[in-house]
Amino acid sequence: MPPERTDSAAAGELAQHLARRIRAAGPLTVDAFMSAVLTHPRHGYYVARQPFGRDGDFITSPEVSQMFGELLGVWCAHAWDVMGRPPLVRLAELGPGRGTLMSDLLRAAASQAGFRAAAKVHLVELSQTLAHAQRMALAGSGYDVTWHTSFAEVPEGPLLLVANELFDALPVRQFVRTVAGWRERLVDADDRGGFQFVVAAAPGPGFALLPPEVRDAPVGAVAEVSPGAIALVSNIAARVAKDGGAALIIDYGSGEFGARDTLQGVARHKPHPVLENPGIADICAHVDFAVLRRAAEESGAKVWGPVTQGAFLHQLGIGPRAARLSAKATSAQKAEIESALARLIGPEGMGGLFKVLCVAHPGHPAPAGFAP
Ligand code: SAH
Repeated sequence: MPPERTDSAAAGELAQHLARRIRAAGPLTVDAFMSAVLTHPRHGYYVARQPFGRDGDFITSPEVSQMFGELLGVWCAHAWDVMGRPPLVRLAELGPGRGTLMSDLLRAAASQAGFRAAAKVHLVELSQTLAHAQRMALAGSGYDVTWHTSFAEVPEGPLLLVANELFDALPVRQFVRTVAGWRERLVDADDRGGFQFVVAAAPGPGFALLPPEVRDAPVGAVAEVSPGAIALVSNIAARVAKDGGAALIIDYGSGEFGARDTLQGVARHKPHPVLENPGIADICAHVDFAVLRRAAEESGAKVWGPVTQGAFLHQLGIGPRAARLSAKATSAQKAEIESALARLIGPEGMGGLFKVLCVAHPGHPAPAGFAP
């Protein structure tokens, strides 16, 4: 089937690049394939495209409603307050998209006296196009904002961090349980100019990455692990354990260990085969919060949750917030607020599938939104 997008030429170049790599060095691990598709410096999905919104491929919580970013702003200002109001706090966001979340967050947090003067904003973004959109969204916010391409570049100091729908974009490796044991799944070129999954001949060193909890899954099972996600959460955890602070990781996924195959493509709000026309669609995987939780604890942080996004936003007061907005709204706007609310907290929608994990300094008091 021909791709729907007019920019299929760029995707064609990405496919050629991947095929050349496979011819030269053999099949790619799934994470190497995913990494090239999403973040190849010229043709990568996040580098070359504007994926958000009704005309894009997916809609994220901050794009559904301003209430999402505003409540995170209140959360950050409160966390700063209970940290003893340090005169300088690093307020970081990983993967800020169009800048909508941070813009709503900063506006709401500024109602906490002293916060605006203390907060230095650090945005970690790989895409120049999105960094430009973020610059536009935050011009005139009154905050000091700096851009980085990796979390390691965010300077030391007490940290408040948010990452919404970033971890699902971090590449995963996949393993298949065969009759001969676990084998890594690889991506090979097929003989029609496309790509196919194959299974490595030997177990390979990757097996060591699988958490012990999933290793006795039955023959035919597929298990995933994201080395990049583990490394990132470990770095965040080590940072808050050393400098103080707390990080919120919000994404879709499970809090239980398990062997799962969640790798998926999404284009125009519909599933898209992962290996078809690479670069034309988003590729993502469910976030393994059980694995993140363990990695963060091993790096010295205290971890809260994961709780569902619905429970978290409910405890932060999204109900009264929606009521206050509705009080000043036209009847059309009221209907929009109602539907946004249902979408963000409804157990069948984002409210149930999305989870929130807090990674904090061991001395940080119980963060808002995580009561049982
Ligand atoms: N947080 C935003 C956007 C989510 S989409 C929202 O909720 O609307 C994922 C974002 O992460 C995009 O901004 C993308 O460019 C960025 N991104 C993807 N992989 C990344 C990586 N490895 N490092 C930093 N940013 C990344």
